[in-house]
Amino acid sequence: MKLDSPIFQDADAARIHLEAQRWPHGPNCPHCGNANPDRITKMEGKAHRPGLYNCMECREQFTVTVGTVFERSKIALNKWLLATFLMASSKKGMSAHQLHRMLGVTYKTAWFMAHRIREAMAEDVKSSGPLGGEGKIVEADETYIGRVDRDYLSPQRKGQPRLKRKMKPKRTVIGLVERGGKARMVHVQHATKAVVRDILVRNADRNSTLYTDQSKLYTVTGEEYASHKTTNHSAGEYVRYEDGASIHSNRLRTCSRSSSAAWSACTSIAAKLTCTATLPSSISATIAAPRLRSPTPNATTSCLP
Ligand SMILES: [Zn+2]
Repeated sequence: MKLDSPIFQDADAARIHLEAQRWPHGPNCPHCGNANPDRITKMEGKAHRPGLYNCMECREQFTVTVGTVFERSKIALNKWLLATFLMASSKKGMSAHQLHRMLGVTYKTAWFMAHRIREAMAEDVKSSGPLGGEGKIVEADETYIGRVDRDYLSPQRKGQPRLKRKMKPKRTVIGLVERGGKARMVHVQHATKAVVRDILVRNADRNSTLYTDQSKLYTVTGEEYASHKTTNHSAGEYVRYEDGASIHSNRLRTCSRSSSAAWSACTSIAAKLTCTATLPSSISATIAAPRLRSPTPNATTSCLP
């Protein structure tokens, strides 16, 4: 897919592309599930908007966007596809401001689009089950994002008492990544052994091999796993080779660092938020997303685990 593709320039081309992606065997009624081509008619003529179908089973009308994150939007479909492409293919994420500048839409519109697209990219953690499994490796690490909590000293107030200003403290994010698989990140108030254990056992299969640094947060929980291997960062060891396998938790470092902008945005939304990072392969990733009536505060980021 290239930026000069007609599906990013023309709304009709975008609609035809989406129809081909969503309905490779002809249109399906999203209201009743009817897929019989004889019982679905295409509404032609100037009175109807292009791409409108009528289901003779349930007598409802629909277009290709019904049931997707593009539904009930007056934004041209080609702009939706372009925004989705940009967000899915930008390794370091994309802000709503960047979308606003590149798409020529207002910031408010771009913010709305970004939320819907992130919603579509979010992994359904409940149905996808835990990361790892027998013979698989899960890396775990924690990171701190944001500004340091400290007093602000105004340069104009020399000799005066410090100007106390409440700064936002750093946000703790615990990340898990399966080698060759998906990554998950969870924002927590404080990273304690109990909190880390709770996140680990909920998100990573105990039959997996766990790779972490030598932080005491993982020592006890690590014993619950099939195997637990660590690297000693304080001794300058960031990777070790054992029986042909490279032991490290560096994938997570790259992942969380490259998308720290997205994380800063995500961690400010709620006190506790589960964030998942998936790799959308194409625009079709957004199609199966749940129907949205309004943007929901959600945080997702895409990164290469
Ligand atoms: Zn129907």
